[in-house]
Amino acid sequence: MKCALITGGSRGIGRAVCIRLAEQGYHILINYRGNTAAAEETLAAVKEKGADGTLLQFDVGNADEVQQVLGEWIAANKDKQIEVLVNNAGIREDMMMFQMSHKQWKSVIEASLDGFFHVTRQVLTGMLLKRYGRIINMVSLSGLKGTPGQTNYSAAKAGLIGATKALAQEVAKRNVTVNAVAPGFIKTDMTEGLPEKELSAMVPMQRFGTAEEVAEAVVFLASKGASYITGEVLNINGGLYS
Ligand code: NAP
Repeated sequence: MKCALITGGSRGIGRAVCIRLAEQGYHILINYRGNTAAAEETLAAVKEKGADGTLLQFDVGNADEVQQVLGEWIAANKDKQIEVLVNNAGIREDMMMFQMSHKQWKSVIEASLDGFFHVTRQVLTGMLLKRYGRIINMVSLSGLKGTPGQTNYSAAKAGLIGATKALAQEVAKRNVTVNAVAPGFIKTDMTEGLPEKELSAMVPMQRFGTAEEVAEAVVFLASKGASYITGEVLNINGGLYS
């Protein structure tokens, strides 16, 4: 059985990715941190597409939890192959640098950057042995241009872009591709409360993007057709920055 693991699959962009990959016939492994009700809604949406899925609750930033839940799932399901990994889990804790607490710095780095390391390390060996894999990392415009008030988030996403490019070169020979997707302003819980009208005026397309528009790009990079694209960062920002 071919599986796709999406971290942070319970809501927002992650949920949209789960639904689109379900349409491709994958068994969907839906990771989330705490919101079981939302994760169950994603699973129901996956089932509506005629696919099936499994909920895997763990904090991607916690190495022990990742080992306990994901590591044990992989050990117990040797007949199943994780072919697609979408490292999507992420949080923001915005604060001007001079006022930022150590906790605000650390929690954001842990979710995006440490999370990538913990989860990918579990999945990578299987992909290398099968000589096939698609890894897509959710980064951000902030990781490319830097965003004031987000030194923690910009650092986490810029770090993840570097890791994407390095790992892409490590595993290319084995037909494992590693790419990143960099959204601008996307309408999800994460951007709730932002002044959408004001910010949209800065975007050439004059609007926020949707989770579905990001999922479309992820599905392309996860497809067999994207076989010669690796180490790339794909911007999805309505023309805001490139
Ligand atoms: P969201 O609606 O806030 O959803 C976040 C998801 O990540 C939830 O499923 C949440 O699980 C999960 N999550 C958070 N921390 C986690 C952890 N430590 N371990 C496991 N799961 C965790 O966010 P979103 O807007 O869809 O963002 C998804 C990704 O896109 C993030 O990496 C974000 O940085 C990136 N991004 C978003 C935008 C945007 O404008 N929205 C722009 C650029 C990049 P629970 O439901 O259990 O809390």
